[in-house]
Amino acid sequence: MTASQPSFDRSAHPLLDLPPLTAQRFAAIEDRVAALLRTRNDVLITQGEALLPLEAAIRSAVRPGSIALNVVTGPYGETFGGWLRSCGAEVVDLVAPFEGAVSAEQVAGALRDHPEIDFVSLVHAEAATGNTNPVAGIGAAVRAHGALLMLDAVASVAAEPLETDAWGVDLCVIGGQKAMGGPAGVSAVAVSDRAWQRIAANPQAPRRSYLSLLDWKERWTDAGRTALPHAPAQLEMLALEACLDRIDAEGLDSVIARHRAASAATRAGARALGSLGCFVVRDQDAAPVATTLRAPAGVDARELAAAALRSNPAVPVQAAGGALAKEMLRVNHYGPAAVRATVPATLRALADGLTALGATADGPAAAQAAEEAWAAAQAG
Ligand SMILES: *Cc1c(COP(=O)(O)O)cnc(C)c1O
Repeated sequence: MTASQPSFDRSAHPLLDLPPLTAQRFAAIEDRVAALLRTRNDVLITQGEALLPLEAAIRSAVRPGSIALNVVTGPYGETFGGWLRSCGAEVVDLVAPFEGAVSAEQVAGALRDHPEIDFVSLVHAEAATGNTNPVAGIGAAVRAHGALLMLDAVASVAAEPLETDAWGVDLCVIGGQKAMGGPAGVSAVAVSDRAWQRIAANPQAPRRSYLSLLDWKERWTDAGRTALPHAPAQLEMLALEACLDRIDAEGLDSVIARHRAASAATRAGARALGSLGCFVVRDQDAAPVATTLRAPAGVDARELAAAALRSNPAVPVQAAGGALAKEMLRVNHYGPAAVRATVPATLRALADGLTALGATADGPAAAQAAEEAWAAAQAG
């Protein structure tokens, strides 16, 4: 080394120079995710954001000649429709209004109308539109029909009950970044035996590909989970493990109750402001991770979101985007935002924003309604 070379710090850094994650530890994390999903099916941790296992599940199970029922309750359903069509499937879209959920009866009706349907894609809770679908009843209808059910549970895991096996979900996909408060760069899919049979019989299922579920089954799960096929993304795996630890420490029921209370309090408070409406009409259809609100007539939702954030930049309010951008704004209440103090702070910022734009807002009534709803939801 010459005197002119700059010195730099080679001492330990918490994020760098990590040893590879062992196969044993990787398998243990998979088992803990399986317990969280309430499944005895194979769970594969996928090394990427949740769009990776969602696309992998569709491309593995669907082939030309497949007839798919795609339940669209928001933007993710629209994405699935594109993948299904690109796999050569004929797609029956069941589009539910963003103000509510799709019912088990509607799904059963679509299956009756198209008896050849062999694949159903469904989003559980949808953060973008603030609704949640009754998966238990829908799953029973799909199982009675004999189709495979793929569920996007990214926004519902740890925010509301998720019963993969009891509900008959064949491909259950989660990501860590919503209610789990974890990393976005790692995700998981639980695969039923029925789904494996379908995938194994699909000549179009990806192989020797990053999208291949079969590669992982063959090289990892069926090989006894003793040697990882690739270097695991150890930062994300450690973060996933840490968020499982934290959920265990708090208790899954408490985490779910916190999200349910945040939703109930946000909805009650927003209504009590007097000039905002809840986009999702019935409480039972409201997602526990996000509340979508309707701006008052004459107020642009994007301007209202900006005005609320000028009052308090820390509140989890955002403009909705998409076709409803002028009418809809969104309050996220998942992970660290699903806490009691965030709700009145958010309502205060919304009240300030409404007032700044010349609309009316009853801030004290909102705070009181939110407080009562939080207490009632936690008790119930
Ligand atoms: C958030 C979310 C995802 C993950 O998508 P991002 O674009 O990474 O946020 C997938 N599905 C649903 C239903 C979600 O709400």
